[in-house]
Amino acid sequence: MQILRKTKLESLKLLESMSKEEILDKIEEKSLVGRGGAGFPTAKKWRMAIGQQDDIYLVVNADEGEPGTFKDKFILENNPETFIEGVMIASKVLDVEKTYIYLRGEYEYLREELEQKIRELNERTQKKFDITVVRGAGAYVCGEETAILSSIMGKRGNSMKKPPYPTQEGLWEKPTVVNNVETLTCVPQLLLYDDWDPDLRLFSLSGDVTNPGLFEVPLGVKVSTLIDLTRPENKLKAMSLGNFGGIMPIEKDYRITPELISGEQCFHGTYSLIWIDETNNIVDICKNISEFYTYESCGKCTPCREGTKKILDILSKIKNGEGNKKDINELKELAEHVNNTSLCGLGNTAGKHVITAIEHFREDFVEKVER
Ligand code: SF4
Repeated sequence: MQILRKTKLESLKLLESMSKEEILDKIEEKSLVGRGGAGFPTAKKWRMAIGQQDDIYLVVNADEGEPGTFKDKFILENNPETFIEGVMIASKVLDVEKTYIYLRGEYEYLREELEQKIRELNERTQKKFDITVVRGAGAYVCGEETAILSSIMGKRGNSMKKPPYPTQEGLWEKPTVVNNVETLTCVPQLLLYDDWDPDLRLFSLSGDVTNPGLFEVPLGVKVSTLIDLTRPENKLKAMSLGNFGGIMPIEKDYRITPELISGEQCFHGTYSLIWIDETNNIVDICKNISEFYTYESCGKCTPCREGTKKILDILSKIKNGEGNKKDINELKELAEHVNNTSLCGLGNTAGKHVITAIEHFREDFVEKVER
């Protein structure tokens, strides 16, 4: 796997031979985009922070909490040195005094080894990168970049309104770059290897299959190839893109690209695909996802706090055979309202599964209300 290539400190030697601008140009030339879901160009983000001409903080988002996503855990377990090299290169290029790695609470078992590796790399390079591992607060919303910043500053992990964006005003009102684990692991690899391929992506595949796991495949891969890798027992009818990216139908000859997914009104996120086979009714899947959102809503803003509960109530009514066709339309309208009026990324996607499910699988809802 490309992501497992170990750069063995070689990339850090480039810090002596390449200027910061040359490193930024190389990252841009190799088309590295954020691997945490949003896909923002990495060099552009770094340049935005540098342009603030102020002290900069670097924060690593290792709070991988999206259901069905387990790629960063795999990297931290299997290639932590290369990841830390990436952190060090970013620290140097951004000229940061202090870096925080915000590690998901459930990944606490990885912390000791990570801290040990940081000490070892600091000793071997005779540099003193100030990198602190912070335990995540254990809430899904803390995977959102502004909530991470609140949490690191010792406040409740609530999201903040944007703009200003973290690159303008982040930790302690200083420009802050937030990068994902996979993104930073790619940095030393793309600097060292000419054959580094920006289209190779980690897909977390799970759900109704007998061989779930992490697979590195190029964007544009056929659905039939992913199905062969994961070996479902029954015919698949849909995939949920994490919990937040929506539910879309699948056809074997589909090629997975951001364009294909957005054409189905869904969002690719971190390419965590949860397969759903034809033995499921999509209403049941939606109810499970809504239970998650109702539990994880931090309660700060009304549309998300009340809306997620109301969505769950209507889904429960439909699932129990107590709903009618009017409820389906009301549910879709409510989900759109929650998405459009909530404060942060959690609320902005809390209705996506319902909207896309009704769009693509209305017959599953109708079946429940016509029983
Ligand atoms: S959208 Fe939800 S999670 Fe985000 S601030 Fe509002 S209540 Fe909290």
